[in-house]
Amino acid sequence: MTADLRIDQLADNLRSQRSTRFWASRNWRLDQLDGVASMLTQNISLWEHALAADLGKSDIEAHMTEISLVLGEIRKTKRSLWRWMLPSPRPVPVTLQPAYGQTVREPYGAALVIGPWNYPVQLTILPMVGALAGGNSVVIKPSEHAPATSALLASLAPIYLDHRAVQVVEGAVDETTELLEQRWDLIFYTGNSGVARIVAAAAAKHLTPTVLELGGKSPVYVDSSADLLVTARRLVWAKTMNAGQTCIAPDYVLVHKAVRGDFEDALRVALAEQLGSAGAVNPDYAHIVNERHFDRLRGLLTQGRILIGGGINHDDHKIEPTVMTDVDADSELMRDEIFGPILPLLDVEDASEAIRFINDRDKPLALYVYAEDYAVAHRFQQETSSGGLGINVSLAHVAAPSLPFGGVGESGMGAYHGRRSFETFTHEKSVLVKPTQLDTLQLVYPPYSDAKRRLL
Ligand code: NAD
Repeated sequence: MTADLRIDQLADNLRSQRSTRFWASRNWRLDQLDGVASMLTQNISLWEHALAADLGKSDIEAHMTEISLVLGEIRKTKRSLWRWMLPSPRPVPVTLQPAYGQTVREPYGAALVIGPWNYPVQLTILPMVGALAGGNSVVIKPSEHAPATSALLASLAPIYLDHRAVQVVEGAVDETTELLEQRWDLIFYTGNSGVARIVAAAAAKHLTPTVLELGGKSPVYVDSSADLLVTARRLVWAKTMNAGQTCIAPDYVLVHKAVRGDFEDALRVALAEQLGSAGAVNPDYAHIVNERHFDRLRGLLTQGRILIGGGINHDDHKIEPTVMTDVDADSELMRDEIFGPILPLLDVEDASEAIRFINDRDKPLALYVYAEDYAVAHRFQQETSSGGLGINVSLAHVAAPSLPFGGVGESGMGAYHGRRSFETFTHEKSVLVKPTQLDTLQLVYPPYSDAKRRLL
């Protein structure tokens, strides 16, 4: 943050800068998007090191799930921005004619983005891209639990971006609380649902629109018709990515009892293929973010029978990918989001039991169905509610900018990515233009004569 701005005046300061209207032009927005891209591409090794320090992310994961994903979004946004910014003509009913109707997308103003620690580049910079494409000023508050990435963002942003419009505030609860006391024009929060309630309450004081990108348990159903080896490979990849510390990681698996044994075998094969026998010390495999989460996850390993894995390495904060069974549906393991590399397996009779199980719980951020029988997959689409649905695939929907990303119910509200980010960070203003030469509105002005009554 530049020295001349204080946290408690940040929103007002950014808003007052906007009187110069520098933010309105498409060129300014494109310059900022280029600035974000350069901030990433010209400092690749610094970002890789920061992500390795905070989470032990391999360079491949750092690129695939953070840096390249953001660069792809910037490319897509730059290509499409002119079209998204165009006013959209709307038909006007004959009773209002002659008139011309259109909607225009205007920036909200000063946006606050509060990010989490698990994908600290992607989940702070993707919302920043949306905010800038929409012509907003933006304050980014990265997570204190990813300190290396937070510090890097704070040091590079002033070099690459317009400081009148972009500020990074580092810090934890105190700083976030101070930020939340101010009046923002939009708040975009990613994190857990407990803090989301604090954010929503603070936003309510100023009637500030809020986007909440939350988490929860994302279930998987494996049908008897599923291709078990491909299913296992896709689930192992999705569950071990970032050591399971992914908001849309498969949380638990409901497996059709007819294929339970074969599915277990397939999981063993897929784990050996992808991580070898020494999962907990594999250098490409991320570590658990901190001691508190490491201890929490270690505790969960006692809440059932370990089928595969279970190894831990305290020095590195690594937990081997672990498949568990015999878990109690009311245990902490099945109540709270696991957010680590532990995968409980629960047997179900059929798809109907899986659907009931899912519908008895909070609406998930993601739901994954593995079935070759598309009638089964279609039932989940029709009969359950979730932020996103992956059929025979997990995680990948997050990488398609054309698919809005967000939760529903306890997993969040609002969405972003691609065009939806632009829409999320702008207000759709309706404009009606009516010429004065022919005053057709005379028909509705009082006095309300009998002739006018007959027209109704
Ligand atoms: P976190 O602890 O880093 O918290 C998120 C942000 O909230 C941080 O910037 C932090 O400083 C701030 N914060 C924490 N306590 C606060 C308080 N009392 N008052 C004000 N601000 C406070 O991250 P987290 O919440 O542990 O993140 C993990 C959760 O986020 C999981 O539930 C995960 O599923 C969810 N998540 C969701 C998405 C998504 O896109 N929907 C993405 C990643 C993570």
